[in-house]
Amino acid sequence: MRIKNQLTFGLALLIGAVVWFQILLLWLQEFFGYNPQWGILHHILGKPTPFDKLVFHGLFFLTVYGGLKALWFLLEQFVYEIKWSRKVNIKVHKQYTQKMNQKFENIGFRIIVIEEESFVAMTCGFMIPRIILSTKVIRQFSDRELDTVIWHEYSHCRNRDPLRSLILRTLEMSLPYFPILRRFSHYIMVWMELLADQNSIRKMRTSRDLAGILLQSSQLAKKQSVGIGFADVAINYRIQQVVVPDQEIKVPLFEYHSIIFSISSIVLLTAAVFSSCS
Ligand SMILES: [Zn+2]
Repeated sequence: MRIKNQLTFGLALLIGAVVWFQILLLWLQEFFGYNPQWGILHHILGKPTPFDKLVFHGLFFLTVYGGLKALWFLLEQFVYEIKWSRKVNIKVHKQYTQKMNQKFENIGFRIIVIEEESFVAMTCGFMIPRIILSTKVIRQFSDRELDTVIWHEYSHCRNRDPLRSLILRTLEMSLPYFPILRRFSHYIMVWMELLADQNSIRKMRTSRDLAGILLQSSQLAKKQSVGIGFADVAINYRIQQVVVPDQEIKVPLFEYHSIIFSISSIVLLTAAVFSSCS
């Protein structure tokens, strides 16, 4: 399942790159009157299709809207990340942080414990992932439960899930007229969690501790603006994986209407790009 998840991520990147390439061509035409006389699609289409200016400009504004929305989202994430890092630095609980890092010195990622009376268990950091826990988690959970949480978060760190999640959300936001990317994003995020749980179960050799934590954290955790929280997404699938481990988990990936809508968008965009070739 790890491979299927990586392939889906690769496919989402490929779709994003192809669509953004088309968008850049559209922008070049609009801003500089650039007229591409080459490209596979140009040869496939043969001669330009007669799209009127209205469709062309409509698409142009839609792409600019998506681009600006994604840019705003990235800026917001950057600010959240800075604010969150400052908050973490101020609230760091030195004694617990030292203890946790000594215990897990071989995992290769830093664990930071912050003085906080709410439930915080998450992985954050787009370039250098680190695990953040609150003192509430440390005090409330047993040693075995804490190990379970750490092994779950370790999987997010190892797979660079905060960065992958940022890329997916930016792509999704920049291309709202490609609903297939939203499906891909949901699928990958759910499997990020399920794979992290599987890693935790493998390390702990039982799913009993994880089951207890999932029930507790689904009620206690509140969603953070940065990183990936322990109980942010996929809680139902995760409980299913623990309660009925033999049952295959089916996360919907393809939906007919999202495929049709996305194909229509790429055809329209391609046609708009090449319609003004002459
Ligand atoms: Zn997680």
